[in-house]
Amino acid sequence: MKHRYITQEIKDVGNSVICDVCSKDWTSSPVSGGFLFGSYAYCPECAKTRLAGIKQYREESHIRAWCPKNLSFSAWVLKLRAGDNRIIYTTYKTKEER
Ligand SMILES: [Zn+2]
Repeated sequence: MKHRYITQEIKDVGNSVICDVCSKDWTSSPVSGGFLFGSYAYCPECAKTRLAGIKQYREESHIRAWCPKNLSFSAWVLKLRAGDNRIIYTTYKTKEER
């Protein structure tokens, strides 16, 4: 009989803001820019370098929001999280057991 094991690891990242694409730390940067592509926050740099590719694949509709000019990328990401700074890692394993 197959058994499915689901484990979750929850990490609270506090106020740190890391780009979901390049992993650069933007926590204390005042720079504005970037967008939310699906559930991924693209930093101001990745937003510039990756937008052409996104357009090429006609995936602009996945861009759910743009960072407003009056907010830094980090302030905007914190606002999007609305106090929920958890990253949840879910692992699925299927084992054959009796
Ligand atoms: Zn980036």
